[in-house]
Amino acid sequence: EKDPRLARISSSIRVIPDFPKKGVLFQDITTLLLDTEAFKDTIDLFVERYKGKGISVVAGIEARGFIFGPPIALAIGAKFVPLRKPNKLPGEVISEEYSLEYGKDVMEMHVGAVQEGERALVIDDLIATGGTLCAAIRLLERVGAHVVECACVIELPELKGRERLGDNPLFILVSG
Ligand code: AMP
Repeated sequence: EKDPRLARISSSIRVIPDFPKKGVLFQDITTLLLDTEAFKDTIDLFVERYKGKGISVVAGIEARGFIFGPPIALAIGAKFVPLRKPNKLPGEVISEEYSLEYGKDVMEMHVGAVQEGERALVIDDLIATGGTLCAAIRLLERVGAHVVECACVIELPELKGRERLGDNPLFILVSG
């Protein structure tokens, strides 16, 4: 049975065609943030799923994982770890390269932020091809953490990101 809160979350997300380039249907979550009920329901749905699961780390992916990650971390009693674009984190980092539609990008995490054996949740706004979440999983696994699940507000199912994640569990609220 579908949670009745999901319909409002779904309709609060604005779709903007041809942004940032022609052919892309951009899922704009800034309109979800303007709807106080939809924003609260989004956080509550994640908190209800992850509270009491022994998660000690919420890792948020720049930039929109920085919006949804921290309130979830606070509510479940976990720390928040930002996974950032290159040359943003000031301390010692580990890096993972990942492929974009055109070219490559790099994701970084501070050394010492996550300890071996910690249980981590990865948060982003949206999964498309899954390349971004895979890079996040690799960073966390390199330091010996266990990625319990990846969670996004939106999935674009046609891009088959879920398959790319393989055996790593994925939880999403709505489809785009
Ligand atoms: P991917 O690595 O292909 O799964 O892409 C996911 C990342 O790109 C996330 O951080 C999203 O915020 C962003 N992204 C990709 N496609 C879209 C889209 N259609 N609308 C909004 N954000 C997107």
